[in-house]
Amino acid sequence: MGDWVPDIADLPRLSAIERTVLEAIDEEETIAFHRGLVRIPTVNPPGDVRQAIAWCERPLRDSGFSTEIVATDDIMPNLVARFGNENGPVLGFNAHVDVVPIGERGAWRHEPFGAEIEDGRIYGRGAGDDKASVTAQVMAGVALARSGVPMIGQLIVNEVADEEVGGFKGAKFVSEQAFFTPDFMIVGEQTFNGISLGEKGSSPTEIAVRGRTAHGALPWEGANAIEAMAEIIVALRREYWPVLATRTNPIFHPSSGSVNLFEGGVKANVVPDSARVYVDRRLVPGEQPDEVVKEIETIALAVVADMPGISVTVGEVFPGGVATRTPEDSPLVSAMLNANTRLGLPTTLGGFSMATDGRFWARQGIPTIIYGPGDPRLAHVPDEWIGIDELLQATRAYALAAVALLT
Ligand SMILES: [Zn+2]
Repeated sequence: MGDWVPDIADLPRLSAIERTVLEAIDEEETIAFHRGLVRIPTVNPPGDVRQAIAWCERPLRDSGFSTEIVATDDIMPNLVARFGNENGPVLGFNAHVDVVPIGERGAWRHEPFGAEIEDGRIYGRGAGDDKASVTAQVMAGVALARSGVPMIGQLIVNEVADEEVGGFKGAKFVSEQAFFTPDFMIVGEQTFNGISLGEKGSSPTEIAVRGRTAHGALPWEGANAIEAMAEIIVALRREYWPVLATRTNPIFHPSSGSVNLFEGGVKANVVPDSARVYVDRRLVPGEQPDEVVKEIETIALAVVADMPGISVTVGEVFPGGVATRTPEDSPLVSAMLNANTRLGLPTTLGGFSMATDGRFWARQGIPTIIYGPGDPRLAHVPDEWIGIDELLQATRAYALAAVALLT
């Protein structure tokens, strides 16, 4: 070991406390912890994470954290592990232990839950999303506790269930029940160890077209809902997507929309009387979910206006939310920037395109950033992997951020 990341002795400008904490990170233990975690299948659904949460709890408790399990569903425990002085500033680490299904097994070259190492990478479902962040957070916490450095604040390591299907029994439950109220929150997702100040919002929208059935041989007797929907989709592509591309923001990709689900039809010889699509709208700061629904509705109504027998309704599938963004001058951002500067990691500030559990804390007004090892494009695909170097760098970065805010 030791050739994955630069020697601590070679890192410039470390304070004595920073050096002590970084030296308390055990690289072999970190890799072994990660591989053990990947080998615990936590596929959601069904989302049973009992074993994985126990795996996270053990080293934290053994190093001096007080730990608590909070749950609204027996198979979906969430870990709240506390260390330090609760009367000082409170820094929260959050990441999720559940993973998406493996998809087609034949598409994988590596064992999906094998945690095989090849060329400095660990392969497996969840290797990046999100067990690399979980590992780095737990091991950073362990290092901080073991180092014995004096704490003026408290670190809370919160590893949760249920992120991959919406976070309702995980981060949403934990944040709304206020088991802890952090002053700063770092949510681990794949940012290449760069700093994301926030995440895009969303407006999950459904378009439903109603028509009239008829015998397929007598189409003029009916009102074809699928054909009407096709016109609406074309209108979105021609009139709406280009408008969204012009809604830009310095730290985010532009606003976007995509028709991601289609449902319709009755039978091969029946004119369809219904068709539905799901429109995946992602929002930049300034866009409001209810306005987005109205925009789509305006286009859809205009398309079907001259189609006899066709009607259309547009609505939210479930509540969306606005984009979130933590101010650049937050001490949290300075702490993370300081860590990345010390470690030679990216110091540009970005925004996260995907939804994360961070939105639950950010929308409560808690300064929240998204930061973690890995490439977001590898999430949810076959042969997902994490680089051992980026895993260890993230562990160091989380530890340095905790040092800056809590010691
Ligand atoms: Zn994730």
